Amino acid sequence: MSKTIIVSNRLPLQIKIEDQTIKTIPSVGGLATGMKSVHAEGNGIWIGWSGLTEEEIDEETSIKVKNAVQKEKCVAVSLTQEDVEDYYFGFSNRTLWPLFHYFTDYTEFELQYWEAYKRVNQKFADEVINHIEEGDSVWVHDYQLLLLPKLIRDKKPHVTIGFFLHIPFPSYEIFRTFPWREEILEGMLGSNLLGFHTYDYERHFLSSVKRILRLDVKFNEIIYHDRIVKVDSFPMGIDYDKFHNAASKNEKQQDKNRTELQKRLDDHFQSDSDAKLILSIDRLDYTKGIPNRIRAFEYFLNKYPEFREKVRLIMLAVPSRSNVPQYQKLKRDTDELVGRINGQFATVSWTPIWYFYRSMPFENLIDLYTSAHIGLITPVRDGMNLVAKEFVATRTEQDGVLILSEMAGASKEMNEALLINPNNFEQIADTIKQALEMPMDEQQKRMKLLQKRIQRYTVEKWAEEFLKSMEATKNNDDIIMATRLKKDQEDKLLEEYQKAASRLMLLDYDGTLVGFKDDPKDASPDAELYDLLDSLSSHHNTDLVIISGRDRETFENWYHNKPYTLITDHGVWIKHKDKDWTALERLKNDWMENIQPVLQTFVDRTPGTFIEKKRYSLAWHYRKADPELSQIRVLELTTVLTSLISNNDLSVLEGNKVIEIKSTNVNKGRAASRLLGEKEYDFMLAIGDDWTDEYMFEEMPDEAATIKVGIKKTAAKYYVKDSKEVRELLSKFN
Ligand code: UDP
Repeated sequence: MSKTIIVSNRLPLQIKIEDQTIKTIPSVGGLATGMKSVHAEGNGIWIGWSGLTEEEIDEETSIKVKNAVQKEKCVAVSLTQEDVEDYYFGFSNRTLWPLFHYFTDYTEFELQYWEAYKRVNQKFADEVINHIEEGDSVWVHDYQLLLLPKLIRDKKPHVTIGFFLHIPFPSYEIFRTFPWREEILEGMLGSNLLGFHTYDYERHFLSSVKRILRLDVKFNEIIYHDRIVKVDSFPMGIDYDKFHNAASKNEKQQDKNRTELQKRLDDHFQSDSDAKLILSIDRLDYTKGIPNRIRAFEYFLNKYPEFREKVRLIMLAVPSRSNVPQYQKLKRDTDELVGRINGQFATVSWTPIWYFYRSMPFENLIDLYTSAHIGLITPVRDGMNLVAKEFVATRTEQDGVLILSEMAGASKEMNEALLINPNNFEQIADTIKQALEMPMDEQQKRMKLLQKRIQRYTVEKWAEEFLKSMEATKNNDDIIMATRLKKDQEDKLLEEYQKAASRLMLLDYDGTLVGFKDDPKDASPDAELYDLLDSLSSHHNTDLVIISGRDRETFENWYHNKPYTLITDHGVWIKHKDKDWTALERLKNDWMENIQPVLQTFVDRTPGTFIEKKRYSLAWHYRKADPELSQIRVLELTTVLTSLISNNDLSVLEGNKVIEIKSTNVNKGRAASRLLGEKEYDFMLAIGDDWTDEYMFEEMPDEAATIKVGIKKTAAKYYVKDSKEVRELLSKFN
């Protein structure tokens, strides 16, 4: 039975060693809840770090730990102290975390961290690969393991891999500063499905893929080698019922059962029935906007003094990564700010800020959530923010107001919250006042809508949706009409070739025999290619034809005196071996003087593009241009050209990063059928990569072998990955 392997940095459990016995305590965090059913299903396993380094436990204990986690269907990846220092605290938390949250000043680019990151991702990969069986799927989580999908794919090319990023993916302008940007993107693209919390993160990722790797992106699909990688957004939710039910229970609690914290919170309301509590809960992280929030609250107390002694801000800050200097500084700044404001505003019966620097047990969190009137969540950058959703889930009376930063991923789904810019103190102060004064019916109207959404799209639903999409990627091959040329078909092809008495090989040039270069002039044949073509054309009874959109002069230059048949300008000219050039079509080219100035205006407005003037066609190349700008220009240009050429026998062809204008009655199909009419062949092979080659495929008889280079819709029977594979195939005919 196939299984799902879940991989994350930490296993969803904590290990306690007491008197030589190992205890595992399951985590209750969001991810563990969401994954619960996936993990429990069949023989599913979870692979991750146990939290103990190799130095912390001797060999005997390590075996015990291994057995204990195995009972929980987990596999522990073994890490050294140095691994954890450099990969986790280093690269993950001092490089990726700040950079992906737009804190470029905090980002440390250290080669040592990067080396550790690669090393540890490999350790994870080795463990995953050891456990993969036929038909399994792997779901990798988060920024600590960005390289993992590729490392798994390299060893297990057919496994289904999903990856979910729990933090933001930054805009291209940020991501491009990263020294190892290509490796990170390629690592992620090992997946079949890439998931992000929001469409914005998805968009940023696609933009980096287009600009940095220069890959083709169609809507939310990336064509990468011979695979399609799907990218989508899946906003993570919470275990709604857990929070909602706990809140209901809390409200029904008898006085004597109330927690100490609850009693103190209740005291606050004793003094004044108008008294209100504003709540914030976060890890003490610089992304959470804690100092901004305190300053904005100070601004509020100054701007609206009538709320003094009535309103209190309760801030729960959970200690986090306290060995990283920026977190230590944040702690000092926060202590200082709270001290200053409390010192300045406190009265004998009132302190404006209650500040807790610790983590709290679940029941106390519920005390806080249910006692507060306003949730004030103001991160300067946050992948999602689950606290905002938990606050909403605990509002059993559907009262209360959520003030939420628009920089949190959660804001995309929580429109009925009061959304603020965390840098705008004026706006925050006014919004706090608005929230404090909001009539009950409006509070309930907003809260109902918020709850409805959070209740429906829970963390279980999130996991379910992701897995459904991941399963669906298994059918991605259906959208490519051709099938991958496999070993047995290849063998059959070679056998037919050997047996045939007369053979025809039609080979496109650019993208088929050679890869693309920024400037087509640089893509001239190399020595290896000449050798290959020479040897093929020396075969008895073999007509080797290079059929291309290149112009006659270029081919004359490259293949002067070579014994191949050449067809140029998409089928205008032909040169049989040992013969002179003859025209297959009689063409005019006086239209060029009207079209060229139009193309020139596009060149002027689109940096990186240029015109190639051929004898019978004009081509506008945009390979080097910004991919998004060029998409817009392609649309513009095709519209302009379509109206301009309507009275001529001209057509506009979209090739591989090129738009070409040429006579309608010239194409590779017509040229190919001429050749097929001249002679009988009992072996026919045509290989090409772009749109213009489709005419050729269509003209080939059914018994011919037609091969497309790359994954695109095609009339060809088979496809291969790239020009390297074309050469490998051709060399087997030798
Ligand atoms: N939380 C907790 N103990 C605490 C305070 C908070 O377990 O003392 C939980 C909180 O309920 C929430 C999570 O920590 O589920 C914080 O998640 P969020 O997405 O808001 O922020 P992150 O820490 O992941 O950046």
